[in-house]
Amino acid sequence: MAKNIRVGIIGGTGLGEAILSHTEGDRVHVETPFGPPSDTPLVAQWEGVEIVFLSRHGPGHLLNPSVVPYRANIWALKQLGVEAIIASGATGSLREDIEPGHLVICDQVIDRTFRRVSTFFDEGLVTHIEFADPFCPSLRALLSEVSKGGANTVHHAGTYVCMEGPQFSTRAESAMHRTWGGDLIGMTCMPEAKLAREAEICYALIALPTDYDCWRPLDPSRGPEDLLPEIMANLHKATENAITLIRQALGRMQGLRRSCKCGHALKLAIWSDKKRIDPAVRKRLEPLIARYFADNS
Ligand SMILES: [Zn+2]
Repeated sequence: MAKNIRVGIIGGTGLGEAILSHTEGDRVHVETPFGPPSDTPLVAQWEGVEIVFLSRHGPGHLLNPSVVPYRANIWALKQLGVEAIIASGATGSLREDIEPGHLVICDQVIDRTFRRVSTFFDEGLVTHIEFADPFCPSLRALLSEVSKGGANTVHHAGTYVCMEGPQFSTRAESAMHRTWGGDLIGMTCMPEAKLAREAEICYALIALPTDYDCWRPLDPSRGPEDLLPEIMANLHKATENAITLIRQALGRMQGLRRSCKCGHALKLAIWSDKKRIDPAVRKRLEPLIARYFADNS
């Protein structure tokens, strides 16, 4: 009865290679109505928990943030029985006290993306899902708890501004994001978190700040050529810290039961008249909605 939660791990830059050096597993091919996921998911045991690792940008980091197949990725994880996702991604810091190399367990998002499909329900069925708290509070609390007492600095909240990219912000945009209350700037959290909620999967994000965004003047004694090695070193450090944090969290997830609302997020979200939904639409979305149609199928 004590069935363990299967945990999806979506890795940003660098995390995938690092995880593969800690564990081995099986690649499992999954078909989705949205084409193939970024990479073939890797199913493995890690810290006594079944994990499914998915590389967000695919092998060789060839998918830019606008073309990552977010829907296929979340669908594939859902198909593989994933109930909780711990995602990570490189970001810029918008705050002096969030230093490169620190970790941030994000609690809010401002979505500035504009050329990505951000829902599974774009045709023939209307849903409006609650998203006031975009990250699972239980998963966030677990990550915060296991991070306490560690050697690394972990911020327990932060607002992630998700921009379209792939170019970085202008200085004016960076200053604006700060006045909006943004703490981090990144390009991949959206629509990943929205789709996870629609798929009723718990989702938490560990942001890995690699540099200060352009709002902060560069040290004049250092040239631009110093910047990239510094960013890569910070990313490496933050990635190692994230791996430690994820391992600690997984160690606490054996036998854990979900106590949050994510698992029935669609319950009150389907606004369409169920009797008028095209059976083909229902069939297509079956893995997400089947249980809400059990009475009138
Ligand atoms: Zn949850």
